Amino acid sequence: MLEAKHIRYDIDGVCILKDVSLCVEKGTVVTIVGPNGCGKSTLLKIMSRVLRPQSGEVFLNGRNIRAINTRELARRMAILPQNKSVAVDLTVEQLVQYGRYPHAKLGGKLSKKDLEEVDEAIRAAGITTLRHRTIGTLSGGESQMAWIAMCLAQTPEIILLDEPTTYLDICYQLEVLELVRKLNQEYAMTFVMVLHDINQAAQYSDVVYMMKNGEIYNSGTPKEIFLPQAFTDVFRVEMRTLNDEKALYYVPQRVDVCREESV
Ligand code: ADP
Ligand code: MG
Repeated sequence: MLEAKHIRYDIDGVCILKDVSLCVEKGTVVTIVGPNGCGKSTLLKIMSRVLRPQSGEVFLNGRNIRAINTRELARRMAILPQNKSVAVDLTVEQLVQYGRYPHAKLGGKLSKKDLEEVDEAIRAAGITTLRHRTIGTLSGGESQMAWIAMCLAQTPEIILLDEPTTYLDICYQLEVLELVRKLNQEYAMTFVMVLHDINQAAQYSDVVYMMKNGEIYNSGTPKEIFLPQAFTDVFRVEMRTLNDEKALYYVPQRVDVCREESV
């Protein structure tokens, strides 16, 4: 279980996150949605110890993450950041191998089992044919899948994915989300994702947190919290809900557009 308690984070005296608490039960898929700049990426960085909050704590299975050593934390938790560092000269295989180093023996040599996990991660991400290409030659979507494979090679208990579907065409988007679902169902792997697509969030999440201006606006199952008032308050859109036998679908319209039409 991953838990953030009463997180406050300021930059140069500006409050970015204000008393944010979030609880991710083991084996669940939790999604954070919210407008640009509301603090989603900052929260993921704090939960993965990339940033240190001014106050509040993060606990992984009851242990304060500040007390867990870096190698152990990397074996338990992987993060796909929104903005990746440049790794243009690395091959896909080398990048994915990086994900395995927290498991390697001292001295950094990967064992046969480590190399098998690298193979498995490349296969699971569907990028076998890209294995020997350098990252700099990949399309945005291909590069995203290579970074996801690196996270998988870590074989962590929990993966934090910041906008994993960015740059991906619709088919690749579903591939990533289906992979998340498969790993969650087959291996009880836990996920925290940031998504912009409300329909994907509704379809693939057990629990959703809606954020607004550095605070949690509400949380619960998609059905519980995806209500018209919430979309107006958080995203300034009017949301229509369509129902067919399979699912609910959310269709947004800008509030001022709706008003103009009704005049
Ligand atoms: P989101 O991921 O929800 O779009 P972020 O967490 O990236 O939002 O950013 C939250 C807010 O913090 C934004 O207003 C952003 O401009 C600001 N911010 C983030 N990092 C910095 C920084 N290093 N310096 C100044 N402002 C920052
Ligand atoms: Mg972000």
